[in-house]
Amino acid sequence: MAIIVLNPSCQYGNVVLEAGHVVYNEGHNLFDIALKTKEALENLGHEVYLTRSLRDEASNLETEMQKANSFNPDLMVSLHSDATGEPINPSVGGTTTFFASEAGYLLAEYVHHSLCRAIGNYYPKHTDRGIKTHWLKLYVLHNINAPACLTEILFHTNPEERKLLLNPLFHQIAAKAIAEGIDTYTKTLG
Ligand SMILES: [Zn+2]
Repeated sequence: MAIIVLNPSCQYGNVVLEAGHVVYNEGHNLFDIALKTKEALENLGHEVYLTRSLRDEASNLETEMQKANSFNPDLMVSLHSDATGEPINPSVGGTTTFFASEAGYLLAEYVHHSLCRAIGNYYPKHTDRGIKTHWLKLYVLHNINAPACLTEILFHTNPEERKLLLNPLFHQIAAKAIAEGIDTYTKTLG
């Protein structure tokens, strides 16, 4: 049994508009995926905390990392969806996982490979964009006192991938795969 923190994106400003309507909100959608991941991890016997309790709770990274560290977690996984810069290139897609330490790299490997395998089975066009360090110092990865990784699950700026990101069946598939990757990682802990 491990103590696990899931850190869904709180980027409510990352939205996709169609005809003036919000059809995608990164913060809301990743919270939904995190809840399903929590459930899957609890079914595997882990103790799981989210960095916020509501889908649309006002939040910021500093508060969230204070909260995350207060649980003394064995690991943390941050969950995001990706976007291209402006002008948007709708054909760019795939999944990337970032890490900032050696311990985080191992966690990233388990989570990323499990997730990419599951996504690829469901969506054969999926691109595995690999496991990387970030060109910016990602705040959450540098302020958590535990091995951590941040996964950018698909691109919400790609219409086909956005449809998947909003699909409850896809949520289930992604959550199960992330949970299995985390669970395998926890078996490497002493
Ligand atoms: Zn994000």
